[in-house]
Amino acid sequence: MTPSGTSILVGIAASPGIAIGRCWSVDRRRVRTPKRRLSPEEVEPELARFRTAIDLSDLQLAEVREKVERGDGVPGTAEHTAIIDMHRMMLKDEMLVIESQRLIREDRLNAEWAVKRAVRKIKGAFHEQADEYFKERRADVDYVGERIIKNLLGQAPDVEEAPPEGAIVVAHDLSPADTALLLHERKVAAFVTDAGAKTSHTAIVARALEVPAVVGVGKITQLVERGDWIVVDGSRGVVVINPTPGERTDYEAAQARQRAEETELLRTRDLPARTRDDVTVRLAGNIEFAEEVPSLLSHGGEAVGLYRTEFLFLGRGDLPTEEEHYQNYRRILEALAPRPVTIRTFDLGGDKLPAGMRVPAENPALGLRAIRYCLRQPDLFRAQLRALLRASVHGNLKIMFPMISGVGELMAARKALEDVRAELEREGVKVKPQLPVGIMIELPSAALIADRLARESDFFSIGTNDLIQYTIGIDRQNKDVAYLYRPLHLAVLRLMKQACDAARSANIPVSVCGEMAGEPVNALVLLGLGVSELSMNGSSIPFVKRVLRAARAADGRALVERLLSLTIADDIEREVRAEMQRRFPGLVGDEAGVGPVSG
Ligand code: PEP
Ligand code: MG
Repeated sequence: MTPSGTSILVGIAASPGIAIGRCWSVDRRRVRTPKRRLSPEEVEPELARFRTAIDLSDLQLAEVREKVERGDGVPGTAEHTAIIDMHRMMLKDEMLVIESQRLIREDRLNAEWAVKRAVRKIKGAFHEQADEYFKERRADVDYVGERIIKNLLGQAPDVEEAPPEGAIVVAHDLSPADTALLLHERKVAAFVTDAGAKTSHTAIVARALEVPAVVGVGKITQLVERGDWIVVDGSRGVVVINPTPGERTDYEAAQARQRAEETELLRTRDLPARTRDDVTVRLAGNIEFAEEVPSLLSHGGEAVGLYRTEFLFLGRGDLPTEEEHYQNYRRILEALAPRPVTIRTFDLGGDKLPAGMRVPAENPALGLRAIRYCLRQPDLFRAQLRALLRASVHGNLKIMFPMISGVGELMAARKALEDVRAELEREGVKVKPQLPVGIMIELPSAALIADRLARESDFFSIGTNDLIQYTIGIDRQNKDVAYLYRPLHLAVLRLMKQACDAARSANIPVSVCGEMAGEPVNALVLLGLGVSELSMNGSSIPFVKRVLRAARAADGRALVERLLSLTIADDIEREVRAEMQRRFPGLVGDEAGVGPVSG
């Protein structure tokens, strides 16, 4: 803490937006479980007590679910009810119920102790994996077990005292049921937790409901008191406790700016990103989780331009099954239909692999990654391709291969897809007859032979994050060379132009899905290159749309011509900024351009 009592904590940016309010700390410390051996005659009454606690728990969850559903139409409702349903299912789970009953009957444990032991056993079945996915599943079992124990003890299992509207809830952790009550019913402004990760249910629900949240802060519960002022910046993962008057004014101004801008921007949500000279660019979203879809749609997303499917693998120790992939793709396709969903096959490799499958490599970015990895692991690839083709009948699917370096590799990937199609047809499984199959242009080799790749591709998507990395030869994660990471480097511009020109000649659409697509300051350049789609973070869409609707494609083309005559990245960037400020005063103001902070 500083002498003023202000302290700034950094956690995981779980849900974007700024909130300023009074702290409402919630004591969610674990309950103490009483342990006692029963006498033989106490067994039957204890079994009845256990049954009552299960029934009561189910009733409570049904009530929470109803409250959530009453707010239907609120984004995130479907996700939330699904989580609560899962918890209700756990109340019927044999491992929990039968095992607790057995412990009461045979080991003569009191019900609280039996539940605790059964919960421990189920968690043990998850093999104590250190990764995030299993951590979350273990947390689910804990929430359910804790609810039963609290009911046995006659304690209120949920956040019983209602926080005032606009409060910032601070807790060690929040169960999905707590989150349901707090967010759906009590209109809290934000929440902060000591525990949690980006994929924890509380984080997912916060994003879906668009409530700012920072999780994984560590020990905020020890530093705040009810009534303290707190600022939550969910875009940056920053929490300020007892901000100075200056800090508060700054955040209030930033918040007011964000709100006014958002309201203004969302007025065009349902309008197309059509330029003044009638060129339409589709604005799509990049997603990592199905839960991001409602927020994407509410920001005016017209499609999913990039679904990074490898996130299904990350943070877990085993491989997702074909069925898990299928259910996941189906859910997204159905939510978007008839809008297109571009699903990228796994960009796995290097450290983007489940813990047990990692193989040390000197240069993981140049190693067995993405399509190379999938072609080397045919079973893993086959499972994904089967799931994709099975899901194809549920919406408007486009399949995209990452890190294609040449035509031979693309043909091999296409053959794998066709083999799977034939296999499914033999099995009598319905598959959509014509599916667009495209590639990421993210290697210089691909951009340089884009004309040849275009003959075998139904669309291109330029992945500038990697294209910049591989063109300039800088590790995109290494902060020491970050100063060289320049999207407008002449070499990158030339390669992008080459890919766009090849796509135009072959009459196939071309998208840009790297981070630069979501920066409004680049919108005119990308328009000038002739892209047909830009894919970005959902929350960036309104900002980019605003620039495009005020722009003319002809001006973009002229700008690109001028940029290609310059040499040094500094000069190119200066020219772009000057042009943007001249053409869109107030829309693109400072160096970084307008828009939310990208994560
Ligand atoms: C890219 O490389 O630009 C891209 C969008 O893919 P990723 O960031 O997932 O590598
Ligand atoms: Mg990439």
